Amino acid sequence: MECIFCQIIEGKIPSELVYESEKIVAFRDINPQAPVHILIVPRKHIEPMKGYELEDLEDLKDILKVAEEIAKKEGVFKTGFRLILNTGPDSGQEVAHLHMHLLGGKPLGRLIGG
Ligand code: AMP
Repeated sequence: MECIFCQIIEGKIPSELVYESEKIVAFRDINPQAPVHILIVPRKHIEPMKGYELEDLEDLKDILKVAEEIAKKEGVFKTGFRLILNTGPDSGQEVAHLHMHLLGGKPLGRLIGG
């Protein structure tokens, strides 16, 4: 079965896009865990569980910069936000395609999980 995030990136599955560039796409999580819950995703199908190639680290840098831009646009840059990059079974990762969660808009507590 084709990767669900690749299908979103290709426009085969609808999503609420909040950011798009040559390398990065961001869209609202379908099951938000906070008032702001956005997934920031490289267009390239990178699987963190397989280990990063050196060039993948460029995408990670871009993702961090895009996160900052989105946090400002969503009004959570000053109030604070959390970035999560789940990797592997114990993290609860469901989608193999690299994605950074951006959560904010309310006090998030010291940790997510439990
Ligand atoms: P993770 O557990 O880190 O793999 O997170 C995957 C995230 O993708 C979850 O928070 C899901 O709610 C979200 N998700 C799954 N399908 C979609 C979709 N079609 N559109 C937006 N978000 C989705």
